[in-house]
Amino acid sequence: MRYISTRGGAPALTFEQAMMTGLATDGGLYVPETVPTLTTDQIAAMAGQSYEQIAFTVMRPFIGDTFTDDEFRAMIDRAYAGFGHDARAPLVQLAPNHFLLELFHGPTLAFKDFAMQLIGQMFQAALTRSGERITIVGATSGDTGSAAIEAFRGLDNVDVFILFPHGRVSEVQRRQMTTPVESNVHALAMDGDFDDCQAMLKDMFNDTAFRDGVRLAGVNSINWGRVLAQVVYYFSSAVSLGAPHREVSFTVPTGNFGDIFAGYIAKQMGLPIKDLVVATNQNDILHRTLETGSYTKEGVTPSISPSMDIQVSSNFERALFYAYGGDGAAVGAQMDDLKSGGFKISQGAYQYLRDRFVSGRASEEETSDAIKTYLAKHGELLCPHSAVGVHVAEDHLGATPMITLATAHPAKFPDAVNAASGVKPPLPPRMADLYDRDERVTRVACDFDAIATLIKERIAL
Ligand SMILES: *Cc1c(COP(=O)(O)O)cnc(C)c1O
Repeated sequence: MRYISTRGGAPALTFEQAMMTGLATDGGLYVPETVPTLTTDQIAAMAGQSYEQIAFTVMRPFIGDTFTDDEFRAMIDRAYAGFGHDARAPLVQLAPNHFLLELFHGPTLAFKDFAMQLIGQMFQAALTRSGERITIVGATSGDTGSAAIEAFRGLDNVDVFILFPHGRVSEVQRRQMTTPVESNVHALAMDGDFDDCQAMLKDMFNDTAFRDGVRLAGVNSINWGRVLAQVVYYFSSAVSLGAPHREVSFTVPTGNFGDIFAGYIAKQMGLPIKDLVVATNQNDILHRTLETGSYTKEGVTPSISPSMDIQVSSNFERALFYAYGGDGAAVGAQMDDLKSGGFKISQGAYQYLRDRFVSGRASEEETSDAIKTYLAKHGELLCPHSAVGVHVAEDHLGATPMITLATAHPAKFPDAVNAASGVKPPLPPRMADLYDRDERVTRVACDFDAIATLIKERIAL
Protein backbone atom coordinates (compact mmCIF):
# COMPACT_ATOMS: atom_id res chain seq x y z
CA MET A 1 0.00 0.00 0.00
CA ARG A 2 1.52 3.29 -1.12
CA TYR A 3 0.49 6.84 -0.32
CA ILE A 4 0.43 9.66 -2.85
CA SER A 5 0.09 13.42 -2.52
CA THR A 6 -3.16 15.19 -3.39
CA ARG A 7 -1.08 17.64 -5.46
CA GLY A 8 0.71 14.97 -7.44
CA GLY A 9 4.19 16.46 -7.00
CA ALA A 10 5.73 14.54 -4.12
CA PRO A 11 7.22 11.04 -3.93
CA ALA A 12 4.93 8.13 -3.04
CA LEU A 13 5.53 6.87 0.50
CA THR A 14 4.86 3.86 2.69
CA PHE A 15 2.32 4.07 5.51
CA GLU A 16 5.08 4.65 8.06
CA GLN A 17 6.66 7.43 6.00
CA ALA A 18 3.33 9.11 5.31
CA MET A 19 2.44 8.98 8.99
CA MET A 20 5.76 10.42 10.15
CA THR A 21 5.81 13.09 7.43
CA GLY A 22 2.35 14.63 7.73
CA LEU A 23 2.30 17.24 4.97
CA ALA A 24 3.74 16.22 1.58
CA THR A 25 6.71 18.19 0.21
CA ASP A 26 4.52 19.70 -2.53
CA GLY A 27 2.14 21.08 0.10
CA GLY A 28 -0.42 18.31 -0.49
CA LEU A 29 -1.85 15.68 1.82
CA TYR A 30 -1.20 11.97 1.59
CA VAL A 31 -3.96 9.60 0.49
CA PRO A 32 -3.80 5.87 -0.23
CA GLU A 33 -3.14 5.12 -3.88
CA THR A 34 -6.19 2.85 -3.86
CA VAL A 35 -8.76 2.43 -1.11
CA PRO A 36 -8.96 -1.23 -0.06
CA THR A 37 -12.41 -2.74 0.19
CA LEU A 38 -13.89 -5.21 2.67
CA THR A 39 -16.32 -7.90 1.51
CA THR A 40 -19.87 -8.14 2.77
CA ASP A 41 -18.84 -11.26 4.67
CA GLN A 42 -15.93 -9.47 6.35
CA ILE A 43 -18.25 -6.69 7.47
CA ALA A 44 -20.93 -9.13 8.60
CA ALA A 45 -18.32 -10.95 10.71
CA MET A 46 -17.83 -7.77 12.78
CA ALA A 47 -21.22 -8.23 14.44
CA GLY A 48 -20.64 -8.78 18.14
CA GLN A 49 -16.88 -8.17 17.95
CA SER A 50 -14.99 -5.81 20.27
CA TYR A 51 -14.02 -2.33 19.09
CA GLU A 52 -10.40 -3.47 19.02
CA GLN A 53 -11.13 -6.47 16.80
CA ILE A 54 -13.06 -4.31 14.35
CA ALA A 55 -10.26 -1.74 14.42
CA PHE A 56 -7.76 -4.37 13.37
CA THR A 57 -9.85 -5.60 10.44
CA VAL A 58 -10.58 -2.08 9.18
CA MET A 59 -7.07 -0.64 9.45
CA ARG A 60 -4.90 -3.65 8.66
CA PRO A 61 -5.11 -3.33 4.83
CA PHE A 62 -3.81 0.26 5.04
CA ILE A 63 -0.63 -0.23 7.04
CA GLY A 64 1.29 -2.54 4.69
CA ASP A 65 4.28 -4.10 6.43
CA THR A 66 4.92 -1.17 8.78
CA PHE A 67 3.91 -3.35 11.75
CA THR A 68 3.34 -7.08 12.13
CA ASP A 69 -0.18 -8.26 12.92
CA ASP A 70 0.78 -8.98 16.51
CA GLU A 71 2.46 -5.59 16.98
CA PHE A 72 -0.51 -3.81 15.48
CA ARG A 73 -3.02 -5.69 17.62
CA ALA A 74 -1.05 -4.86 20.76
CA MET A 75 -0.93 -1.15 19.81
CA ILE A 76 -4.67 -1.03 19.25
CA ASP A 77 -5.26 -2.67 22.64
CA ARG A 78 -2.98 -0.21 24.44
CA ALA A 79 -4.44 2.78 22.60
CA TYR A 80 -7.97 2.20 23.88
CA ALA A 81 -7.20 0.65 27.28
CA GLY A 82 -7.43 4.07 28.99
CA PHE A 83 -10.94 4.81 27.76
CA GLY A 84 -13.69 5.17 30.34
CA HIS A 85 -16.13 2.87 28.52
CA ASP A 86 -15.67 -0.77 27.54
CA ALA A 87 -17.48 -0.31 24.25
CA ARG A 88 -15.06 2.57 23.44
CA ALA A 89 -17.65 4.15 21.09
CA PRO A 90 -21.09 3.31 22.52
CA LEU A 91 -24.33 4.09 20.68
CA VAL A 92 -27.32 5.50 22.51
CA GLN A 93 -30.78 6.02 21.10
CA LEU A 94 -32.20 9.54 20.82
CA ALA A 95 -35.42 8.95 18.89
CA PRO A 96 -37.05 6.11 16.91
CA ASN A 97 -34.49 6.16 14.12
CA HIS A 98 -31.85 8.50 15.49
CA PHE A 99 -28.76 7.38 17.39
CA LEU A 100 -25.88 9.16 19.09
CA LEU A 101 -22.37 7.76 18.75
CA GLU A 102 -20.54 8.77 21.93
CA LEU A 103 -16.95 9.44 20.96
CA PHE A 104 -16.00 11.21 24.18
CA HIS A 105 -14.94 8.45 26.55
CA GLY A 106 -11.21 8.88 25.89
CA PRO A 107 -8.71 10.61 28.20
CA THR A 108 -9.43 14.16 26.94
CA LEU A 109 -13.18 13.73 26.41
CA ALA A 110 -13.28 14.35 22.66
CA PHE A 111 -13.20 12.11 19.61
CA LYS A 112 -9.63 13.20 18.82
CA ASP A 113 -8.47 10.61 21.38
CA PHE A 114 -9.47 7.76 19.08
CA ALA A 115 -6.84 8.76 16.57
CA MET A 116 -4.29 10.39 18.81
CA GLN A 117 -3.94 7.53 21.28
CA LEU A 118 -3.25 5.18 18.40
CA ILE A 119 -0.89 7.63 16.68
CA GLY A 120 1.03 7.89 19.96
CA GLN A 121 1.50 4.10 19.99
CA MET A 122 2.52 4.00 16.32
CA PHE A 123 4.99 6.91 16.60
CA GLN A 124 6.58 5.40 19.67
CA ALA A 125 7.08 2.04 17.98
CA ALA A 126 8.51 3.60 14.82
CA LEU A 127 10.88 5.88 16.76
CA THR A 128 12.08 3.14 19.06
CA ARG A 129 12.92 1.12 15.97
CA SER A 130 14.78 3.95 14.20
CA GLY A 131 16.37 5.52 17.30
CA GLU A 132 15.26 8.96 16.12
CA ARG A 133 14.05 11.92 18.11
CA ILE A 134 11.32 14.16 16.69
CA THR A 135 9.55 17.42 17.41
CA ILE A 136 5.81 17.35 17.08
CA VAL A 137 4.14 20.67 16.46
CA GLY A 138 0.37 20.81 16.34
CA ALA A 139 -2.16 23.58 15.82
CA THR A 140 -5.40 23.21 17.68
CA SER A 141 -8.80 24.75 18.16
CA GLY A 142 -8.67 22.98 21.52
CA ASP A 143 -9.26 19.25 21.27
CA THR A 144 -6.44 18.10 19.00
CA GLY A 145 -3.87 19.75 21.26
CA SER A 146 -5.07 18.18 24.47
CA ALA A 147 -5.39 14.79 22.78
CA ALA A 148 -1.86 15.07 21.34
CA ILE A 149 -0.38 16.08 24.67
CA GLU A 150 -2.14 13.21 26.38
CA ALA A 151 -0.81 10.77 23.77
CA PHE A 152 2.82 11.97 23.81
CA ARG A 153 3.43 13.26 27.36
CA GLY A 154 6.48 11.73 28.94
CA LEU A 155 7.76 9.91 25.84
CA ASP A 156 11.57 9.91 25.61
CA ASN A 157 12.02 10.55 21.92
CA VAL A 158 9.37 13.23 21.35
CA ASP A 159 8.92 16.91 22.18
CA VAL A 160 5.39 18.16 21.67
CA PHE A 161 4.55 21.83 21.03
CA ILE A 162 0.92 22.84 20.72
CA LEU A 163 -0.19 26.19 19.28
CA PHE A 164 -3.65 27.21 20.36
CA PRO A 165 -5.47 30.53 19.79
CA HIS A 166 -5.08 32.57 22.95
CA GLY A 167 -8.43 33.19 24.68
CA ARG A 168 -10.42 31.13 22.19
CA VAL A 169 -10.46 27.70 23.77
CA SER A 170 -12.61 26.58 26.68
CA GLU A 171 -11.11 26.46 30.17
CA VAL A 172 -11.21 22.67 30.26
CA GLN A 173 -9.51 22.48 26.87
CA ARG A 174 -6.84 24.96 28.00
CA ARG A 175 -6.22 23.21 31.30
CA GLN A 176 -5.86 19.85 29.61
CA MET A 177 -3.01 21.40 27.60
CA THR A 178 -1.37 23.50 30.31
CA THR A 179 -1.46 21.23 33.35
CA PRO A 180 0.62 18.21 32.27
CA VAL A 181 3.87 18.37 34.21
CA GLU A 182 6.12 16.44 31.80
CA SER A 183 9.01 18.52 30.47
CA ASN A 184 8.50 17.34 26.86
CA VAL A 185 5.12 19.14 26.76
CA HIS A 186 5.01 22.77 25.59
CA ALA A 187 1.70 24.66 25.39
CA LEU A 188 1.92 27.87 23.32
CA ALA A 189 -0.94 30.39 23.44
CA MET A 190 -0.73 32.29 20.15
CA ASP A 191 -2.33 35.63 19.31
CA GLY A 192 -4.85 35.03 16.53
CA ASP A 193 -7.51 32.49 15.65
CA PHE A 194 -7.29 28.79 14.79
CA ASP A 195 -6.75 29.47 11.09
CA ASP A 196 -3.72 31.61 12.04
CA CYS A 197 -2.35 28.74 14.14
CA GLN A 198 -2.94 26.30 11.30
CA ALA A 199 -1.27 28.67 8.79
CA MET A 200 1.72 29.00 11.13
CA LEU A 201 2.05 25.24 11.24
CA LYS A 202 1.92 25.00 7.45
CA ASP A 203 4.67 27.64 7.23
CA MET A 204 6.83 25.55 9.53
CA PHE A 205 6.38 22.48 7.37
CA ASN A 206 7.08 24.47 4.23
CA ASP A 207 10.36 25.83 5.66
CA THR A 208 12.66 22.95 4.76
CA ALA A 209 15.58 24.13 6.91
CA PHE A 210 13.43 24.41 10.01
CA ARG A 211 11.50 21.24 9.26
CA ASP A 212 14.63 19.14 8.85
CA GLY A 213 16.56 20.96 11.59
CA VAL A 214 14.12 20.10 14.35
CA ARG A 215 12.90 16.87 12.71
CA LEU A 216 9.39 18.17 12.56
CA ALA A 217 6.47 15.76 12.60
CA GLY A 218 2.79 16.61 12.46
CA VAL A 219 -0.21 15.10 14.13
CA ASN A 220 -2.88 17.45 12.84
CA SER A 221 -5.82 15.94 11.04
CA ILE A 222 -3.80 16.24 7.84
CA ASN A 223 -1.95 13.18 9.14
CA TRP A 224 -3.26 10.12 7.31
CA GLY A 225 -2.96 8.00 10.46
CA ARG A 226 -5.55 10.22 12.12
CA VAL A 227 -8.09 9.82 9.36
CA LEU A 228 -7.54 6.08 9.29
CA ALA A 229 -8.19 5.57 13.02
CA GLN A 230 -11.48 7.44 12.65
CA VAL A 231 -12.77 5.11 9.94
CA VAL A 232 -13.18 2.38 12.54
CA TYR A 233 -16.14 3.77 14.47
CA TYR A 234 -18.19 4.16 11.30
CA PHE A 235 -17.93 0.40 10.93
CA SER A 236 -18.47 -0.48 14.59
CA SER A 237 -21.60 1.67 14.89
CA ALA A 238 -23.10 0.74 11.51
CA VAL A 239 -22.62 -2.96 12.21
CA SER A 240 -24.38 -2.70 15.55
CA LEU A 241 -27.41 -1.27 13.69
CA GLY A 242 -27.48 -4.06 11.15
CA ALA A 243 -24.88 -3.26 8.48
CA PRO A 244 -23.97 -4.66 6.02
CA HIS A 245 -27.56 -5.94 5.70
CA ARG A 246 -29.03 -2.51 6.41
CA GLU A 247 -27.90 0.95 5.28
CA VAL A 248 -27.23 3.69 7.81
CA SER A 249 -26.60 7.44 7.51
CA PHE A 250 -24.26 9.63 9.51
CA THR A 251 -24.33 13.28 10.55
CA VAL A 252 -20.94 14.65 11.48
CA PRO A 253 -20.21 17.98 13.22
CA THR A 254 -17.47 19.26 10.95
CA GLY A 255 -14.61 21.75 11.03
CA ASN A 256 -11.50 20.50 9.32
CA PHE A 257 -13.40 17.83 7.32
CA GLY A 258 -11.30 15.07 8.92
CA ASP A 259 -13.97 13.12 10.72
CA ILE A 260 -16.49 13.24 7.87
CA PHE A 261 -13.76 12.32 5.41
CA ALA A 262 -13.14 9.17 7.46
CA GLY A 263 -16.83 8.37 6.83
CA TYR A 264 -16.27 8.82 3.11
CA ILE A 265 -13.39 6.32 3.30
CA ALA A 266 -15.59 3.87 5.21
CA LYS A 267 -18.12 4.11 2.40
CA GLN A 268 -15.42 3.63 -0.25
CA MET A 269 -14.31 0.51 1.64
CA GLY A 270 -17.76 -0.98 1.18
CA LEU A 271 -19.74 0.07 4.25
CA PRO A 272 -23.32 0.71 3.08
CA ILE A 273 -23.75 4.36 4.05
CA LYS A 274 -26.69 6.23 2.56
CA ASP A 275 -26.13 9.87 3.53
CA LEU A 276 -23.03 11.55 4.88
CA VAL A 277 -24.31 14.80 6.35
CA VAL A 278 -21.84 17.63 6.95
CA ALA A 279 -22.99 19.74 9.92
CA THR A 280 -21.41 23.16 10.43
CA ASN A 281 -21.92 25.94 12.95
CA GLN A 282 -22.25 29.58 11.88
CA ASN A 283 -18.77 29.29 10.34
CA ASP A 284 -20.40 27.47 7.48
CA ILE A 285 -17.89 27.54 4.64
CA LEU A 286 -18.32 23.81 4.00
CA HIS A 287 -22.11 24.06 3.91
CA ARG A 288 -21.90 27.05 1.55
CA THR A 289 -19.40 25.21 -0.64
CA LEU A 290 -21.63 22.18 -0.96
CA GLU A 291 -24.61 24.44 -1.72
CA THR A 292 -22.89 26.66 -4.29
CA GLY A 293 -19.75 24.98 -5.60
CA SER A 294 -17.66 27.98 -4.55
CA TYR A 295 -15.22 27.80 -1.66
CA THR A 296 -14.92 31.36 -0.44
CA LYS A 297 -13.18 32.37 2.77
CA GLU A 298 -14.89 34.76 5.14
CA GLY A 299 -13.74 35.77 8.62
CA VAL A 300 -14.13 33.37 11.53
CA THR A 301 -16.83 34.33 14.03
CA PRO A 302 -16.19 32.74 17.44
CA SER A 303 -19.02 30.40 18.44
CA ILE A 304 -20.04 28.19 21.36
CA SER A 305 -18.73 25.21 19.37
CA PRO A 306 -15.14 26.48 19.08
CA SER A 307 -13.61 23.26 17.73
CA MET A 308 -15.50 23.96 14.51
CA ASP A 309 -14.59 27.66 14.20
CA ILE A 310 -12.66 27.42 10.99
CA GLN A 311 -12.58 28.71 7.43
CA VAL A 312 -9.70 26.79 5.91
CA SER A 313 -10.74 23.18 6.13
CA SER A 314 -7.56 21.20 5.47
CA ASN A 315 -8.99 17.80 4.78
CA PHE A 316 -11.41 19.11 2.19
CA GLU A 317 -8.41 18.91 -0.11
CA ARG A 318 -8.56 15.12 0.16
CA ALA A 319 -12.20 15.10 -0.94
CA LEU A 320 -11.32 17.42 -3.83
CA PHE A 321 -8.60 15.04 -4.92
CA TYR A 322 -11.13 12.25 -5.35
CA ALA A 323 -13.68 14.63 -6.86
CA TYR A 324 -11.09 15.57 -9.51
CA GLY A 325 -10.45 11.91 -10.25
CA GLY A 326 -6.96 11.99 -8.75
CA ASP A 327 -5.78 14.99 -10.81
CA GLY A 328 -3.17 16.49 -8.48
CA ALA A 329 -2.47 19.43 -10.77
CA ALA A 330 -6.13 20.49 -10.66
CA VAL A 331 -6.15 20.28 -6.86
CA GLY A 332 -2.90 22.24 -6.65
CA ALA A 333 -4.35 25.01 -8.84
CA GLN A 334 -7.42 25.31 -6.61
CA MET A 335 -5.24 25.50 -3.51
CA ASP A 336 -3.22 28.28 -5.12
CA ASP A 337 -6.45 30.20 -5.74
CA LEU A 338 -7.40 29.71 -2.12
CA LYS A 339 -4.47 31.89 -1.08
CA SER A 340 -6.22 34.80 -2.76
CA GLY A 341 -9.57 34.11 -1.14
CA GLY A 342 -11.28 31.13 -2.73
CA PHE A 343 -11.96 28.94 -5.73
CA LYS A 344 -14.80 27.61 -7.84
CA ILE A 345 -15.04 23.84 -8.12
CA SER A 346 -15.41 22.54 -11.70
CA GLN A 347 -18.82 21.21 -12.67
CA GLY A 348 -17.82 17.55 -12.72
CA ALA A 349 -16.02 17.66 -9.38
CA TYR A 350 -18.87 19.59 -7.81
CA GLN A 351 -21.37 16.96 -8.97
CA TYR A 352 -19.14 14.25 -7.46
CA LEU A 353 -19.22 15.98 -4.09
CA ARG A 354 -22.99 16.67 -4.28
CA ASP A 355 -23.56 12.98 -4.91
CA ARG A 356 -21.61 12.01 -1.81
CA PHE A 357 -22.21 14.69 0.82
CA VAL A 358 -25.21 16.66 1.98
CA SER A 359 -24.95 19.49 4.47
CA GLY A 360 -26.62 21.85 6.89
CA ARG A 361 -25.75 24.53 9.42
CA ALA A 362 -26.83 25.44 12.93
CA SER A 363 -26.88 29.03 14.17
CA GLU A 364 -25.85 29.81 17.74
CA GLU A 365 -29.49 29.95 18.80
CA GLU A 366 -30.32 26.66 17.12
CA THR A 367 -27.32 25.06 18.83
CA SER A 368 -28.41 26.25 22.27
CA ASP A 369 -32.00 25.19 21.57
CA ALA A 370 -30.82 21.73 20.62
CA ILE A 371 -28.90 21.38 23.90
CA LYS A 372 -32.00 22.37 25.83
CA THR A 373 -34.46 20.25 23.85
CA TYR A 374 -32.34 17.12 23.79
CA LEU A 375 -31.97 17.23 27.55
CA ALA A 376 -35.69 17.79 28.09
CA LYS A 377 -37.09 15.44 25.46
CA HIS A 378 -34.40 12.84 24.82
CA GLY A 379 -32.61 12.67 28.16
CA GLU A 380 -29.20 13.53 26.71
CA LEU A 381 -26.95 16.40 27.70
CA LEU A 382 -25.01 17.30 24.54
CA CYS A 383 -21.84 19.33 24.03
CA PRO A 384 -22.37 22.26 21.63
CA HIS A 385 -20.65 20.47 18.73
CA SER A 386 -22.84 17.41 19.09
CA ALA A 387 -25.82 19.78 19.36
CA VAL A 388 -24.94 21.25 15.96
CA GLY A 389 -24.95 17.67 14.71
CA VAL A 390 -28.38 16.68 16.02
CA HIS A 391 -29.92 19.95 14.83
CA VAL A 392 -28.72 19.34 11.29
CA ALA A 393 -29.52 15.61 11.46
CA GLU A 394 -33.18 16.38 12.11
CA ASP A 395 -33.57 17.53 8.52
CA HIS A 396 -32.35 14.15 7.31
CA LEU A 397 -34.24 11.65 9.47
CA GLY A 398 -36.26 9.00 7.67
CA ALA A 399 -36.43 5.29 7.05
CA THR A 400 -32.66 4.85 7.26
CA PRO A 401 -31.19 4.88 10.77
CA MET A 402 -29.29 8.11 11.40
CA ILE A 403 -26.16 8.08 13.57
CA THR A 404 -25.04 11.51 14.78
CA LEU A 405 -21.49 11.72 16.08
CA ALA A 406 -21.17 13.15 19.60
CA THR A 407 -17.69 14.59 19.27
CA ALA A 408 -17.05 15.83 22.82
CA HIS A 409 -18.28 15.37 26.37
CA PRO A 410 -20.55 18.19 27.59
CA ALA A 411 -18.21 18.79 30.56
CA LYS A 412 -15.56 20.00 28.13
CA PHE A 413 -17.77 23.03 27.40
CA PRO A 414 -19.57 23.58 30.72
CA ASP A 415 -20.33 27.29 30.30
CA ALA A 416 -22.12 26.97 26.96
CA VAL A 417 -23.96 23.88 28.14
CA ASN A 418 -24.99 25.58 31.37
CA ALA A 419 -26.16 28.71 29.57
CA ALA A 420 -28.34 26.63 27.26
CA SER A 421 -29.71 24.05 29.67
CA GLY A 422 -29.24 25.35 33.19
CA VAL A 423 -27.17 22.26 33.99
CA LYS A 424 -23.44 22.48 34.62
CA PRO A 425 -22.05 19.10 33.60
CA PRO A 426 -19.44 17.73 36.02
CA LEU A 427 -16.14 16.29 34.83
CA PRO A 428 -15.93 12.49 35.05
CA PRO A 429 -14.42 11.49 38.41
CA ARG A 430 -11.12 10.34 36.85
CA MET A 431 -10.28 13.98 35.97
CA ALA A 432 -12.21 15.87 38.63
CA ASP A 433 -9.11 17.72 39.95
CA LEU A 434 -8.38 19.44 36.62
CA TYR A 435 -9.45 22.84 37.93
CA ASP A 436 -6.99 22.61 40.83
CA ARG A 437 -3.83 21.77 38.92
CA ASP A 438 -1.13 24.38 38.16
CA GLU A 439 -0.94 25.72 34.60
CA ARG A 440 2.21 26.13 32.49
CA VAL A 441 1.89 28.02 29.20
CA THR A 442 3.93 30.40 27.01
CA ARG A 443 2.19 33.31 25.29
CA VAL A 444 3.55 33.88 21.76
CA ALA A 445 2.90 36.39 18.98
CA CYS A 446 1.76 35.22 15.54
CA ASP A 447 5.38 35.52 14.34
CA PHE A 448 7.16 32.66 12.57
CA ASP A 449 10.72 33.64 13.54
CA ALA A 450 9.87 34.08 17.20
CA ILE A 451 8.10 30.73 17.44
CA ALA A 452 10.80 28.90 15.46
CA THR A 453 13.48 30.32 17.77
CA LEU A 454 11.54 29.32 20.86
CA ILE A 455 11.15 25.75 19.63
CA LYS A 456 14.84 25.46 18.76
CA GLU A 457 15.82 26.78 22.20
CA ARG A 458 13.48 24.46 24.04
CA ILE A 459 14.60 21.28 22.31
CA ALA A 460 18.27 22.16 22.79
CA LEU A 461 17.73 22.15 26.54
C1 LIG B 1 -12.19 18.61 16.04
C2 LIG B 1 -13.60 18.64 16.48
C3 LIG B 1 -14.65 18.72 15.55
C4 LIG B 1 -14.40 18.85 14.07
O1 LIG B 1 -13.79 17.71 13.54
P1 LIG B 1 -13.09 17.78 12.10
O2 LIG B 1 -12.44 16.48 11.92
O3 LIG B 1 -12.12 18.91 12.19
O4 LIG B 1 -14.18 18.06 11.13
C5 LIG B 1 -15.94 18.67 16.03
N1 LIG B 1 -16.20 18.59 17.35
C6 LIG B 1 -15.22 18.52 18.26
C7 LIG B 1 -15.59 18.44 19.69
C8 LIG B 1 -13.89 18.54 17.86
O5 LIG B 1 -12.92 18.46 18.77
